[in-house]
Amino acid sequence: MENQVWLQNLSWEEVRQRTGQSRGTIILPIGSTEQHGYHLPVGTDTMVAISIAEDAALKANVLVAPPLWFGWSPHHMVLPGTITIRPEILIEVMFDVINSLQRHGFDKYILLNGHRIVNISWLQIAAERAQRELGIKAVIFDPAYMSKEFTQNLGWGEVGHAEEIETSHLWYKYPELVKMDKAQDNPHNHRRIYHVDPKYAGDTLSYVPSSPSEMELLAEKSGGTAGEPSKASREGGKKYHEHLVQRMVEVITMLQEPGQK
Ligand SMILES: [Zn+2]
Repeated sequence: MENQVWLQNLSWEEVRQRTGQSRGTIILPIGSTEQHGYHLPVGTDTMVAISIAEDAALKANVLVAPPLWFGWSPHHMVLPGTITIRPEILIEVMFDVINSLQRHGFDKYILLNGHRIVNISWLQIAAERAQRELGIKAVIFDPAYMSKEFTQNLGWGEVGHAEEIETSHLWYKYPELVKMDKAQDNPHNHRRIYHVDPKYAGDTLSYVPSSPSEMELLAEKSGGTAGEPSKASREGGKKYHEHLVQRMVEVITMLQEPGQK
């Protein structure tokens, strides 16, 4: 099965062979299933992770584990289609996945997180524990951190929710699932001393998911969108996607350099 990067599509014999060819490197795509405004599918964050993982794995000849479609999304429960799992479950699932793959020779892991800041703490805990207990190497790749300069060059605003960044990306990779005629803008209305975009340079409080009343307000105002999807473009989404795939390939190459562990 040439060009097959998804672990779940291979037989165990093929997995064994590809583990060596991948030099023990595997991408773990992690997202969420949660509301993404009127115009994007609830699987957006997982689709972001899947699409970058697949294209980068093809270029770098590594494997991709089955995606995890669930993340920590308690604040989005205000709208239907959202599924949230508890952080302790997320940590345990990620650790068990790495523990299983490590038994058969994978020793380099890229946790590709499509759910942004909300998942990061829990992935850090799982990655640290796996490195300490299993002797593997794990890194976390988050598109919001890996495109700080690039999104500014494209003229896009801050990281929000279902904003021009996610909208452009989905519009490019999954156009049949995007309803641009339903997109509703909701320009950022900042709280004092509080920013969640990793490219914000000023002093800020740290991230806490919005309260139920804040989320009810967001749902009423824009159907759950924070940001300006009207600024989205397929062309921008293509450039953004290619930038992230390139960055992912660089990370894989870096991990595979001798002496990296
Ligand atoms: Zn999202």
